[in-house]
Amino acid sequence: MDNPPQNQRILSGMRPTGRLHLGHLHGVLKNWQRLQQGNDCFFFVADWHALTTSYEDPAGIPEATWEMLLDWLAVGIDPERATLFVQSAIKGHAELHLLLAMITPLPWLERVPTFKEQQEQLGDRNLATYGFLGYPLLQSADILIYKADGVPVGEDQLSHLDVTRQLARRFNWLYGREPDHGERVAESLGRMAKKAASRFKGLRSAWQEEGDEAALAEGKALLAEQASLGPEDRERLLGELEGRGIEILPEPEPLLTPESRFPGLDGRKMSKSYGNTVSLREDPEQVRERIRTMPTDPARVRRSDPGTPEKCPVWDFHRIYSDEATRAWAYEGCTTAGIGCVDCKGPVIESVLAEQAPIRERAAELEQNPARVRELVAEGNRRAAEVAEETLTEVRGAMGLGSPEAGGG
Ligand code: SF4
Repeated sequence: MDNPPQNQRILSGMRPTGRLHLGHLHGVLKNWQRLQQGNDCFFFVADWHALTTSYEDPAGIPEATWEMLLDWLAVGIDPERATLFVQSAIKGHAELHLLLAMITPLPWLERVPTFKEQQEQLGDRNLATYGFLGYPLLQSADILIYKADGVPVGEDQLSHLDVTRQLARRFNWLYGREPDHGERVAESLGRMAKKAASRFKGLRSAWQEEGDEAALAEGKALLAEQASLGPEDRERLLGELEGRGIEILPEPEPLLTPESRFPGLDGRKMSKSYGNTVSLREDPEQVRERIRTMPTDPARVRRSDPGTPEKCPVWDFHRIYSDEATRAWAYEGCTTAGIGCVDCKGPVIESVLAEQAPIRERAAELEQNPARVRELVAEGNRRAAEVAEETLTEVRGAMGLGSPEAGGG
């Protein structure tokens, strides 16, 4: 995302995993820092999402939420610019999830690629649960309840956002039509030959309920060749085919973020599950020690052996943290055995510590003042709840749901 959007409502969340590491900073938080300039950002801790896979062991979620919020604030995610909130504090997400569940065809969820993949990857847990299957639906509620224009996603998350977009379209089609829409469509269809009209209905279901793009294309072609239809009929039926209604829930656009593969201390992607992380608030001595003991090019056994930087995890760090002159020095020194690995790691250690210093400082201040942090989060929750309730009022109205008093029952 080279040119960040402007004046958009943007939504993004993270599961509470506790203290964040450098991979989170470079992969997500720096992007949030950019987005919060000039956009209306909503950033949330997705604690209900954590339950979709960790429902057997929820005890650590509150602490992980707290630590993560501290990290967000410490890196400069600014509650004055962005709304920071905790998903489970906004009960409206659960209500919209329930309402959307009523209109979601099961195959939409079953065919999300990550559903099967994750079930296989996390084979030690029983993930044959509704919560796990419904994960993209809860995510859709998270996004649609704020009427987000844009959602930062990686390639692997695009299929989830497709579900959200389809759901918004389906909701608008079901509940955003004129009262006499059904009769008008029937009239327009009556002007087509019976066989063509019945084919049209089949194609409409295949596109709207199964997302069959070939059916959508065939439906458009079918309408184009109906000489008996006037322009108004054609436009009405095209809207009917595509599932367009009055826009109650806008379809969010993906803000594609390049895959972040921040290197871990062992050269694999930095991830808590590999134990190869440097956390944002890690003690400086420990940072020194961890980088000093990082593996290097395995072929460089002795100080006098020339090395190959491309085969060394430390070089990955130089690529991120060092300026051109330092990189040239490290490259030359490594390939000619002019420097040792301990020398080579020195500038990396200093750069990581320099990056962490202001974060550590701000986090220490916040830790001294937990009441202030709670206040900031409570304020974010309040703002989020207000927006969520506005959308829910519209949603309930569109669906004809009222309070018992209003219904007279
Ligand atoms: S000199 Fe640097 S790049 Fe070369 S192997 Fe050692 S740590 Fe890696």
